[in-house]
Amino acid sequence: MGSITLQQVRKSFGEVEVIPGVDLEIHDGEFVVFVGPSGCGKSTLLRLIAGLEDVTSGRIVIDGRDVTQAPPSQRKLAMVFQSYALYPHMSVRKNIAFPLKMAGMAADEQERRVQHAAGILNLTDYLDRRPGQLSGGQRQRVAIGRAIVREPSAFLFDEPLSNLDAALRVNMRVEISELHKKLATTMVYVTHDQVEAMTMADKIVVLRAGRVEQVGSPLELYRKPANRFVAGFIGSPN
Ligand code: ADP
Ligand code: MG
Repeated sequence: MGSITLQQVRKSFGEVEVIPGVDLEIHDGEFVVFVGPSGCGKSTLLRLIAGLEDVTSGRIVIDGRDVTQAPPSQRKLAMVFQSYALYPHMSVRKNIAFPLKMAGMAADEQERRVQHAAGILNLTDYLDRRPGQLSGGQRQRVAIGRAIVREPSAFLFDEPLSNLDAALRVNMRVEISELHKKLATTMVYVTHDQVEAMTMADKIVVLRAGRVEQVGSPLELYRKPANRFVAGFIGSPN
């Protein structure tokens, strides 16, 4: 499970139309990257999918269910933010388990899921530490662990690596790609970084001023950019 369909999704903030109408099909298990310049509406589109913003019009369907009016908690999605938003006074274990505790899950099931996520993310030896005692990469993994334990249909990432230094960013890129292979769960990943898009995506969605300019694999976009904007942005020679 993890298919996401957007049908004529529009979003205005007051008088300003930020998303003038997006149609998009995301298939189960795909790694889809939204890429485009700052302010083009990437985060807004992700937040509409997550239910953190209401659409002005249009429909959002997840796993065949119309969730346009559903609150975030009923969409089975897990969002990983740019700022890790970890609780500094809590252990890594408690940070990862936090959404499960909020949902009232039994303690033994919480612990089972935390151990499972920690194993995947190489955090098993760090569960009793606090976020302040971790490296930037480890903190980012804790934030991802908090998403994994919820066993979502899809992960939504909003520029998760933009706070990291260049070397770490490269490592985390590989780690997130490997995580996608391990979990085989849909991931929607927002970035303004062309290299991230080209190296991580099964499918790239190029956005410009809230419109989809082109959808395709990295190779398709490189070989056959739909227009100059896409060519320029992807770095295609055409
Ligand atoms: P991106 O993530 O691609 O940088 P955003 O989705 O954050 O772009 O923003 C797209 C546009 O929508 C920007 O012009 C931004 O100022 C505007 N915008 C985003 N959120 C709000 C909001 N809550 N209220 C008003 N304008 C907003
Ligand atoms: Mg953004």
